[in-house]
Amino acid sequence: MAMQTIPVDPFDLTIFGATGDLATRKILPGLFRRMRAGQMPKEARIIGAARTEMTRDDFRALVKTSICTACNPENVQKSDLKRFLNQIDYLKLDVFADTDWHRLKPMLRKDVVHAFYFSVGPGLFGRIARCLKEHNLAGDDARIVVEKPFGRDLASAKQLNTDLRSYFHERQIYRIDHYLGKETVQNLMAIRFANSLFEPLWNSHHIDHVQITVAESLSVEGRGTYYDKSGAMRDMVQNHMMQLLCLTAMEPPSKFEADAVRDEKLKVIRALEPVSTDDVVRGQYLGSGAQDDYKSHAENPNTVTESYVALRADISNWRWAGVPFYLRTGKRLRDRVSEIVVVFKHAPHSIFGFGAARGGRNVLTIRLQPDEGITLRVTIKDPGPGGMRLREVPLDMSFAEALSAEVDGMPDAYERLIMDVIRGNQTLFMRGDEVEAAWAWVDPLIDVWAADTKLPQSYDAGSQGPEDALHLLARDGRRWRRIGGDS
Ligand code: NAD
Repeated sequence: MAMQTIPVDPFDLTIFGATGDLATRKILPGLFRRMRAGQMPKEARIIGAARTEMTRDDFRALVKTSICTACNPENVQKSDLKRFLNQIDYLKLDVFADTDWHRLKPMLRKDVVHAFYFSVGPGLFGRIARCLKEHNLAGDDARIVVEKPFGRDLASAKQLNTDLRSYFHERQIYRIDHYLGKETVQNLMAIRFANSLFEPLWNSHHIDHVQITVAESLSVEGRGTYYDKSGAMRDMVQNHMMQLLCLTAMEPPSKFEADAVRDEKLKVIRALEPVSTDDVVRGQYLGSGAQDDYKSHAENPNTVTESYVALRADISNWRWAGVPFYLRTGKRLRDRVSEIVVVFKHAPHSIFGFGAARGGRNVLTIRLQPDEGITLRVTIKDPGPGGMRLREVPLDMSFAEALSAEVDGMPDAYERLIMDVIRGNQTLFMRGDEVEAAWAWVDPLIDVWAADTKLPQSYDAGSQGPEDALHLLARDGRRWRRIGGDS
């Protein structure tokens, strides 16, 4: 079955920072794929804006190279590429030069959707928002797209919200968390709210605990000095992991609409108990040699920034009282894995007697990467004679296998979210109050660490993480699902 693609309205999308890493690796190739899928209309225009002095043809050549690098060359037809490049313009614009801003106005057309993507460092967000208004470039229907990081603590996030809201309404601000654009993350909502099977069990009566893992096998080499200013808590927990936690734990919204969904997510964040320092572990990876550990990559022998964090989160509401949500994320771990694991309670009584062994727990695993899909572990009878012995088997569904024809043309997270911006749909974007509430929850931990003399615990490259993270669950009588395959 071919995937249904509904073209969006004609638009002018201005990308600030169009020569940068994000724009050339994700945004522009993503837009190319949307054009090829028939979703980006031929009347759409992309205006690349950046500090670099270059001609439109130079920029088009850069975009061509980016697309050929990012997309499967077999899928890049010359005619598609030509058409896409024809829809692209370039403006040398230093956001601090007023004279440059004047040159943007004549490039924007009337009667199309106007969107402005801030693919630049966060220090420029406020300035760009102000210039767009002062130079009369963005009307009341224009949209601005803001990249992460959205602040580095509650105070800076509040300031950024104030700056942006001085010039734009909340309904015009699209704060990107690309995790929300992932197919499986949206599927999490479909699984919960489009099936009658799971939701009645989705509570403390039936669920023992939840594990959310975002593990990376790569180190921070090459961008260690940048990473060292943030660390795993700011880089992953406050945003991506918080979003996964919210979608797993939230109440059913009355509609799949932006504010209905975001209201429910906000309630989850506000119901989170403060995390005690006993319930959090931070780590730093070691390398195969002295030049290969986190400290060397960060170029800071005294750094106390964490490349790993694990914590226990508790949600104080009726649905989740007594059900811990264990979160862990880190660099240079055994494998690259993102998943949500919902571990159900044991059946209340075993009828099969001692010899059968107790049935295992049902475990629902929602895999975000690699191999997006869902696995439900169930207990069955071990086949063959010899009485009633039990064994656990996975009911496994890989999206790539089950939906291969459709998965091939499926938009990746960025391209899906950009199309939502053009459609004016904010459901998969974070609202300002959500971001602030998330910072309010992680800030106290970051503050404690800043004053703490205790160093993060070391862990070996390619391992499961620091020892203390294993104890975090072991002391509660539980254990992590192994990173890189297992139980
Ligand atoms: P980058 O350094 O590669 O690119 C920055 C871009 O900003 C360049 O095009 C540069 O010309 C432009 N720029 C810098 N100063 C400017 C000025 N004064 N006027 C006009 N343009 C100016 O950065 P990046 O990695 O592409 O990241 C861009 C934003 O996206 C950042 O906020 C980053 O945190 C965020 N982000 C990036 C990634 C990623 O994978 N690269 C992932 C998530 C979020």
